[in-house]
Amino acid sequence: THPSVSTAALLVAAASGGGLVAYADSAGENASSEPSQEAPRKKKVVVLGTGWAGTSFLKDLDCSKYEVKVISPRNYFAFTPLLPSVTCGTVEARSIVEPIRKMLEKKRKDVTFYEAECFKIDASKKAVHCRSAVGTNFDGNGDFMVDYDYLVVALGATVNTFNTPGVMENCYFLKEVEDAQKIRRNVIDCFEKASLPNISEEEKRKILHFVIIGGGPTGVEFAAEMHDFLVEDLVKLYPAIQDFVKITIIQSGEHILNMFDQRIATFAEIKFQRDGIEVNTGFRVVKVSDDLITMKSKSLGEVSVPYGMAVWSAGVGTRPVIMDFMQQIGQTNRRVLATNEWLRVHECDSIYAIGDCASITQRKIMDDISTVFKMADKDNSGTLTLKEINDVIEDICIRYPQVELYMKSMHMLDIRDLIKDAIGDSHKESMVVDIEEFKKALSHVDSQVKSVPATAQVAFISICKRSLARVNILRFLKLCQVAAQQGHYLAECFNKMDQCKEHPEGPLRMTGTGSGRHNFRPFRYKHLGQFAPLGGEQAAAELPGDWVSMGHSTQWLWYSVYASKQVSWRTRMLVVSDWTRRFIFGRDSSRI
Ligand code: FAD
Repeated sequence: THPSVSTAALLVAAASGGGLVAYADSAGENASSEPSQEAPRKKKVVVLGTGWAGTSFLKDLDCSKYEVKVISPRNYFAFTPLLPSVTCGTVEARSIVEPIRKMLEKKRKDVTFYEAECFKIDASKKAVHCRSAVGTNFDGNGDFMVDYDYLVVALGATVNTFNTPGVMENCYFLKEVEDAQKIRRNVIDCFEKASLPNISEEEKRKILHFVIIGGGPTGVEFAAEMHDFLVEDLVKLYPAIQDFVKITIIQSGEHILNMFDQRIATFAEIKFQRDGIEVNTGFRVVKVSDDLITMKSKSLGEVSVPYGMAVWSAGVGTRPVIMDFMQQIGQTNRRVLATNEWLRVHECDSIYAIGDCASITQRKIMDDISTVFKMADKDNSGTLTLKEINDVIEDICIRYPQVELYMKSMHMLDIRDLIKDAIGDSHKESMVVDIEEFKKALSHVDSQVKSVPATAQVAFISICKRSLARVNILRFLKLCQVAAQQGHYLAECFNKMDQCKEHPEGPLRMTGTGSGRHNFRPFRYKHLGQFAPLGGEQAAAELPGDWVSMGHSTQWLWYSVYASKQVSWRTRMLVVSDWTRRFIFGRDSSRI
């Protein structure tokens, strides 16, 4: 039997000879309200999503302590950082996915997986409504409901077109494995089409114009992959049309890779210029028709360019189920779920949110800053020296990596400068700053940082709005690290939950209500660096300690890191053998 599927489901299952876990929605709702005969022995944990956050939670969770149900429309985990490599056949799609049931094999007795999409979270009934991803049950209805004691929401994010007309209909996206496969087929289609005898030169140029909208890491990596595919493989296979190929990146900001160190952005721009990849910065795409991309810049106004294939990698948005849930719990006007530092959704006792669909709410920043500040003001004088302020800021930066991230994405030198600016004429070491003034300065910083999500899926920063620069800081290693680190952290908390029943979130050191040792520390993100592969066996990396590395040797570092980060030995072997195959035989250009 299935303890978390309610009685009605079990009756249906029994009537149909067992094995059936789906039932009609309404029946499910009625059924779930019936009192259960026996109190469940273990608490029910439902995990929504099998991406970075969900799988990292599951891997580290001691499943023997809970009855765990996992729900996701995809029965595999995809190693998203290698998706751009799938678009040109550098690695195969199957090499970067790991079946979720395989990952859960060791925990199988304790974990159940449903391949289904959650379409509603009902916090009042402690249940999630799901729809089968593989078809319908005998009623012709694939909907069912699963109840929970604890819900872990790890639903990730979706694409965001910012309502730009024509994007949904005419652009390709690079979010899922299927997207990468579609791109791969279409790239080959473009080359085959342009090789047909009745195509004029002008049409060839149009068909072979590959446009990438968004100069963040994904767009840049895709452009680099395309370029490598072209010069290493396609020129040999399609020599007659090689001169018609063009790759363009359209970026609304001043630079591509603008969340990276300036040296990396410059290196990438120079390399792309050398490779013949056109980089149009300062342009915002306003419309995409089936054959023209219209973009706008301050200096040139509206410009339209013909294209053969467009890939949109300019924004990340909220999944409908998250939007619906945020409305239910009054978190409107937000892009992601707000959690506290223990990753629990505000106002929801038993719901946790991790990864791209969540962020540690910014309003906590000010409370905590005040507490850090009071702690620094040891003599209760109400004033701090600049040295003490610097210490406070160090602490804030460690606790809130998004503050630093924000500063970096804005190319600001240092958070200290912003605060000093806000305080006014106080940049002398000896200057003693009034606490209240300092707080005011911090709220100025806070208001600027407010729109930066803590897990940093996408920063659609307020300043960027003004400058029309859409900064996509989703895509990088450190951000997967956020999702993975949050999953790991939450699993540790769940594993210790028994010992900490009294304080499921641990004594709150920072809010001053607790004393003594912590059971749970608040979640803290550890930044481990980020990579930008730039093609031609070159990459750039920002490593811990502000160390920047660029060139061929960094590409080898990238190979080692990405091979070591694979989730299983199977995928590790497959990825490495794909790389080797590509080195020896080149990429496969068959359109299958
Ligand atoms: P996801 O990994 O997106 O997982 C979401 C899960 O929820 C999926 O299993 C999905 O099937 C499931 N789901 C969706 N809807 C439902 C539903 N209704 N019901 C149930 N389940 C649902 N980060 C890096 O750090 N480095 C990189 O190099 C990098 N490169 C990237 C390249 C690309 C092309 C992309 C798209 C992303 C890249 N990222 C990279 C970002 C990284 O993938 C994300 O930050 C990370 O995946 C977030 O993890 P998550 O678990 O929150 O979401």
